[in-house]
Parts: sequence; structure tokens; C-alpha cells
Amino acid sequence: MPELSTSLIHHPYEAPAGFAAPQHAVHKASTVFFPTVAAMRSRDWKNKSAYTYGLHGTPTTYALEERLCALEGGLQCVLVPSGLAALALVALALLKTGDEVLLPDNAYGPNKALVEGELRSWGISHRYYDAMDPQDLAAKLSPATRLVWVEAAGSVTLEFPDLATLVRIIKQHGALVALDNTWGAGIAFKPFNLAPGSSEALAVDVSAHALTKYPSGGGDVLMGSVITRDPDLHMQIKLCHMRLGLGVGANDAELVLRSLPSIGLRYRAHDEATRAVATWCQTQPQFVQVLHPALAGSPGHEFWKALCDRPDGGAACLFSVVVAPQYAQAQVDAFCDALKLFRLGYSWAGPISLVVPYELRTMRSTWPQEITQGTLVRFSVGLEAVADLQADIAQALLQLRA
Ligand SMILES: *Cc1c(COP(=O)(O)O)cnc(C)c1O
Repeated sequence: MPELSTSLIHHPYEAPAGFAAPQHAVHKASTVFFPTVAAMRSRDWKNKSAYTYGLHGTPTTYALEERLCALEGGLQCVLVPSGLAALALVALALLKTGDEVLLPDNAYGPNKALVEGELRSWGISHRYYDAMDPQDLAAKLSPATRLVWVEAAGSVTLEFPDLATLVRIIKQHGALVALDNTWGAGIAFKPFNLAPGSSEALAVDVSAHALTKYPSGGGDVLMGSVITRDPDLHMQIKLCHMRLGLGVGANDAELVLRSLPSIGLRYRAHDEATRAVATWCQTQPQFVQVLHPALAGSPGHEFWKALCDRPDGGAACLFSVVVAPQYAQAQVDAFCDALKLFRLGYSWAGPISLVVPYELRTMRSTWPQEITQGTLVRFSVGLEAVADLQADIAQALLQLRA
């Protein structure tokens, strides 16, 4: 008879196999057992045929990866601890000293910080292009350009680019295209099918997604994914992922698995509410411009319409307003402080509406020609009732009249 301490660890009981229930089990592991040394030597984690170590995959992470591929129309996926880590992994896996990476000038801010910080110090150069001007992109491509980021819609200002034309130009040049797909979330458009209804196979090479936003949907998980369709490209990313030791927590993976079935319903509910609130904001005289790609007159509306205006498409829960320049920054800050339902906070696509004032002048190389002069405030619309959200903005607007 082994002693108690041993039998509490090496207990012979095994629960019957075949347990089936709606939600995935939370498989937690650093250590994974092998039945024999031969199995230990021969098991391959790279093709998901077996398990070797927690960092290399568990049933929970494999299941989430496969479902995310289904969401975005990809074939392979790796999970990372945040959306920003997904952007960084793409750069680290695909760029080397001497290469150049291009980003749209309206890219997600921390991606710009990455290229201006780490990538620059490793001898990887960068240039910013105007996403609304394909000729500007074409002019900035050089023999050193290895990777080009695209984003639709753009961060904070939400211009919707002519994605198909940008991708064609990049591919013709022979560079790789990586999309930050957080806004579209696999719902608004399909990143690996950018010419729907035509026979042209137009696709990005890599789709990076902040699962922190829609796939989590709760404002309580940080996670990212990198999805591809090309096995060689995937392996390059997967090996880099392994060497860097990136992984995600099992409880977090389970939370995303639990939220994922409702992503389409949530995306459309947020979308409908956001358009209603944004349209109402257009009638407020203090706002000189409302930026939301589904609103006629918003920058790139026609490109959004061509790609995303389908019953199964849509737009994300973000819109920005430009407050008339006669209002001082302090008044705009007071407006944001006066909002009660819209909470001050970063991130989006959770149940709670959020607001952030931005200093656009400090974020762009030049003031974008499509954006009216003024002070920018970005709203993220949650799942509260539209009438209550409108009333909240209306009461806070009194701060601007003061
Ligand atoms: C939030 C966000 C990210 C980063 O996601 P984190 O999980 O917060 O690191 C990247 N890109 C876009 C467009 C985002 O909105």
C-alpha cells in the first residue's frame, strides 16, 4: 500500500471517458504525460495530432484555434496573450534586420509604438502611408518592403480604405499583407475573401485579431490570435511563437470559447445601436463631423458599402465625433467627465459603453484631409438601450454650452 501522500497523487481511479456537455473543459497543464519514452520522442505538437507541453497546446486551446479559423475563414491559428502580442508576433516572425514594414497612418497606436521602438532598434525600418490614397501606398513600397499592415476601419478616425485595391498593390509588389482584423472581427467582412462574388482569389496573408474585443465580449479577457491560410507562413509564425514562449491561460481560453457562439448576435446588436446613436449625434450642432463608415459622407463609406453592406456583414460598435473647434479642450474634457453611462476607459465590444477623448494632432503625421478640424472624441457603444445612451450624451452636451 503506498502512503497517503503518494496515493493522493497517484490515485488509481479514472472517471469514465465520454463525458459530453455544451461547454469545453478547462484543460490546465504545463506538464503533459506520455505513456512511453518512444511517445515522448515521436510526438509532434506542430500539427495538433498530440500533446507534448501546455505551452504547445491543450484540448481547450486547440478547440478555440479551430473555431477562430472558422470565424475568419482561415486554416491555421496561434493564440497569444493580447491583441498587441498578435501584432508583435507577426512582426517578429516575418521581419529581419534590413527589412521595411509599412503601416497606415491611422494604424492602431501601439503598433506604431512597436515599429518606432523595438523594430527600429533591431534595424527594421518603417514608413507610414495614407490608407485612403492607394497611390501613396504604391509610392512608399520599396525593394526592402517585406510586410504591409492594413486596417479596416482605421483606428479612432474610422476611415474605411479601398481594401481590395490596397491588397492588390501590395501583392503585385511581392510583399506580405497583414490585417489587424479587430474591427471586422470576422463578421463585417472575410479577410481571406476580399472579392466576394467574383472569381478573384483576393486575400490577406495574415489576420491578427484582438480577441479582447468581440470574441471575449466581456471586457474581462486579454487575448489575441494570428490566422493564416498558407502552411509555410503559419509554420514560420508558429515556430517564432514557440521560441518566444507565448501561450494563453486555460481559463481565459474557456471564456472566449463560451462567448464565441454569440459573436454574430452581439456584433449585429452593437452595430444597430451604434448606427442609431451615431445618426442622432449628426443632428447635434456641437458635433461638426460624425465618423462611422456606415454613415453616408463618412470617409470611405463607399468602400465599406462595397465590402461589408450585406445581411451577414456590418460595422463595429465604434464611432467618433469631431467637436466644433470653438470649444476648448477643457470643455470637451468636461463633456466626457459628465457622461454617466459612457464610462471613461479603453477597449471596446463589451456590454458597457465607453468614451475616450483623443488628441489626433499627436497621433498622425499630418492632419488627415478627410477629417474636419476640431477635437476628437471616440465612443464605443455597449448593449445599453439606445434612448438612454442618447439621453446621456444630451445631458453631457450641456457642458459644452456652459
Ligand atoms: C484593442 C486593439 C488591439 C490590441 O488588443 P489588446 O488585447 O488590448 O492588446 C489591436 N488592434 C486593435 C485595432 C485594437 O482595437
